[in-house]
Amino acid sequence: MYTTLKLRIPPRAPHLADGSVQGTFLLELFGDMAAELLIGIDGDEGILRGLADVEFPSPAYLGDFIEAEAEVIHWGDGTRRISFTAHKVASSLTPTLPRSSAAQQLPHAKPICSAKALYFVPEKRRRIQNAPDPLIITCAPVGSETTREDNPYLPLTPDEIAAEVARCAAEGATVAHLHVRDEAGEATQSREIFADAIQKIRQRCDIIIQVSTEGDAAMEVTARCQPLEAGGDMASLATGTVNRGDHIFFNSKPLVEHVALLIKQANLVPCIEVYDLGHVENVKLLAKKGLVTLPGHYEFVLGAKGGMGARTEVVHLLAEMIPRGSTWSVTGVGRHQLRMAELAVRRGGHTRVGLEDNVNLSRDVQAQGSAPLVAKVAEYAKSIGRPIADVAAARKILGIQK
Ligand code: ZN
Repeated sequence: MYTTLKLRIPPRAPHLADGSVQGTFLLELFGDMAAELLIGIDGDEGILRGLADVEFPSPAYLGDFIEAEAEVIHWGDGTRRISFTAHKVASSLTPTLPRSSAAQQLPHAKPICSAKALYFVPEKRRRIQNAPDPLIITCAPVGSETTREDNPYLPLTPDEIAAEVARCAAEGATVAHLHVRDEAGEATQSREIFADAIQKIRQRCDIIIQVSTEGDAAMEVTARCQPLEAGGDMASLATGTVNRGDHIFFNSKPLVEHVALLIKQANLVPCIEVYDLGHVENVKLLAKKGLVTLPGHYEFVLGAKGGMGARTEVVHLLAEMIPRGSTWSVTGVGRHQLRMAELAVRRGGHTRVGLEDNVNLSRDVQAQGSAPLVAKVAEYAKSIGRPIADVAAARKILGIQK
């Protein structure tokens, strides 16, 4: 949960003789932003319990243009800890008298104030409950491109995959995004191998299984969609073409429509994969044709070479573009994975992690499978007070009936 505010500092703001604004003015703005957030969450402004880490790294003057951001960084039992930052984006040319309306944009936003505040909303004043849904962590333990050279812990056989999915489930994953490999370790869409892996997973743990319909460009659609008959609960649905490194991940409109139809006929819930902004628009067209039902569950894939950048603004934009009532998850590729996962956890989204998209736990530390990546996200969620969904809760959120 977050909010932003932009304003020009008015002449009536409390200031000193040189036109510099008193810190109390900025802290009051932060207070207004906290009120907005808390009214959205609890239906009440709550009570300020404490203020910490207040800093004014550089002065702001009357007539400056500023942008501020507030974000809930911890959820407790009735408590919400909020972090604030404010930046100057344009400087007034005449902060003292006689003033003019002139101002100059800065090449880079300059930090002017940051703080953290603790608010408490008593039970009897909480009129609504707008806290984020419990977090769904999807594990993606295999993928189609990761190799044992990239990471020796990559599971390849159905037995190895099932064991790794069970480890991920034990760490808090409630969805498994599934690919399988043939005997040579190459990606395959073989229905039999998918069915074998799914059966072995089901023997070991309770988890929602999302089969991949990715395949490769040369594949016939029916060959690509064999996993739909393998006993899963969901299926990934790529919704448009995108460059992927030196290759093209080819998803023409007729192909996407065909895959969407087959997912619908198989009675599986689609995970709507978005690799580029235009794909969100493609999904609306699919819905118009009755091929997907909206609101739905979206997976935003960011940070892949040729795709969207792994940037906070992109996640915000995508989350605003999808139909109200939809749920969204973020897959960060490579070194962006955990940073993007943490952003999604804070902002009310869900996330996917695993060796399919990232083989490292941190810059120089190899992940010993996907389970440690799941564990890291789960630990982060706990540290900010966001509950983690169990399988029943995840099924409800994703609309999986069976
Ligand atoms: Zn995949």
